Amino acid sequence: MGVEGKLEQNKPLAPFTTFGIGGPARWFAEAGSEAEIVAATGWAQERGVPLFVLGGGSNLLVADRGFDGLVLKVGMRGIAATTARDGSGQVIYEAGAGADWDGFVERTVQDGCAGVECLAGIPGTVGGTPVQNVGAYGQEVSSAISAVRAFDLPGRSFVAFIADECGFAYRRSRFNSVDRGRFIVTQVDFRLTPGGAPTAGYPDLQREIAQSGLDGREPTLVEVAAVVRKVRQSKGMLLVEGGPDCRSAGSFFKNPVVDADTVRRIAEGSGKEPPTYPAGADGAGKVKVPAAWLIEQAGFTKGFALGAAGISSRHTLALINRGGATASDILALAARISEAVEARFGIELEREPVLLGF
Ligand SMILES: Cc1cc2nc3c(=O)[nH]c(=O)nc-3n(C[C@H](O)[C@H](O)[C@H](O)COP(=O)(O)OP(=O)(O)OC[C@H]3O[C@@H](n4cnc5c(N)ncnc54)[C@H](O)[C@@H]3O)c2cc1C
Repeated sequence: MGVEGKLEQNKPLAPFTTFGIGGPARWFAEAGSEAEIVAATGWAQERGVPLFVLGGGSNLLVADRGFDGLVLKVGMRGIAATTARDGSGQVIYEAGAGADWDGFVERTVQDGCAGVECLAGIPGTVGGTPVQNVGAYGQEVSSAISAVRAFDLPGRSFVAFIADECGFAYRRSRFNSVDRGRFIVTQVDFRLTPGGAPTAGYPDLQREIAQSGLDGREPTLVEVAAVVRKVRQSKGMLLVEGGPDCRSAGSFFKNPVVDADTVRRIAEGSGKEPPTYPAGADGAGKVKVPAAWLIEQAGFTKGFALGAAGISSRHTLALINRGGATASDILALAARISEAVEARFGIELEREPVLLGF
């Protein structure tokens, strides 16, 4: 079947997003192979039709009027595992970009391979993970990725990047910064360690593990992934069918990376020392301040509502669709929060989800 046979018109996008918000796509297609990606993008380029690549829609806010272009959903879902040829004993997983991320994590922990167990329960696709270098509970996906295969839209050819070429940083990569919109990720390769110890140092995980009756023994990878999902669920950060806090895109703001002067200013502004975390590779001498803490200090509480938009009752950083919210409702609440944080601390919060059609 040619591209035309696969194209749908005026396709509602809200059901393809975890917010459950947004108008229709003028054109919509799902690509189940690299050949279909080539064909569909060629169709759009020949006609000058704007293109948007959709994964699981879990980091996305679609405009109420929709998107006047082609939304191409990446549907390649195959996963293959082989032992690395370099004698390291590590296992290379080649995962199709359209594979469900949490399903992939579950497969790796069941296989006894360490490296992504703390990223259990993050919604979306494998192909979405390198885009913002997803991270949680002490792991970032960049440390497990060995290569990313992608279609270069302007060059109309497939390219492969090793991890060092992906520009990974906190919630950032070349795919959402300098090369935004240029590449369609079709496959991600992960290098994982069979029999490796789980990463479980994060305080929330340690607390949950201590209470989970393991009789002092070290948890397995499967158990750590399960603990991560449990902690996520307690914070409304696990998508559960019908959960009141689940129509969200996860964290709506990034944690600001700031210098010591700014930390001092925040402390003076709030009369309290802010909690801080190492900024990692992103900022020598800098620290991360939890955006959730800043938002709370600026006067917002969990469960705050502004019309049909709200703050999750379990996590201050997640904005939610309380039912029938529009994209404008969500952005109005986001603006209210950002303005309050800026007025109080002089810090401009950076949005995490991607906007489409605005
Ligand atoms: C409840 C909840 C909890 C979350 N928790 C976390 C968390 O702990 N840590 C974290 O980092 N994120 C978290 N997120 C955000 C989100 O799940 C991740 O960013 C996820 O990786 C997005 O993947 P996706 O497939 O849904 O991408 P989408 O939302 O479909 O797209 C997001 C962006 O990636 C691009 N993109 C997607 N697939 C491709 C591809 N194949 N090629 C090129 N570009 C592509 C899109 O064009 C868009 O710009 C959470 C979200 C929710 C709803």
